[in-house]
Amino acid sequence: MSQSEWNKKGCEKCRNGWLSGNSPPEISVSEERWGTLHKCEYCGTFWEAFLSNADIADSETIKKYYPDAHGKYFSS
Ligand SMILES: [Zn+2]
Repeated sequence: MSQSEWNKKGCEKCRNGWLSGNSPPEISVSEERWGTLHKCEYCGTFWEAFLSNADIADSETIKKYYPDAHGKYFSS
């Protein structure tokens, strides 16, 4: 991932959180994905974290793999 792409994700607080090991709060877990879903409390961005990296999670991914979180945060 290039630095410029990374700088467009989330906000400074959550990006720095990932880099410093102080990631946004975990809100769900997917055994199928071997991943965890996190939500930044500052900008509201959803992140999916794996063993060695983290990236933005879109609503389709959240709906498919983290249905509990989808129901909580995306229900209208
Ligand atoms: Zn953020």
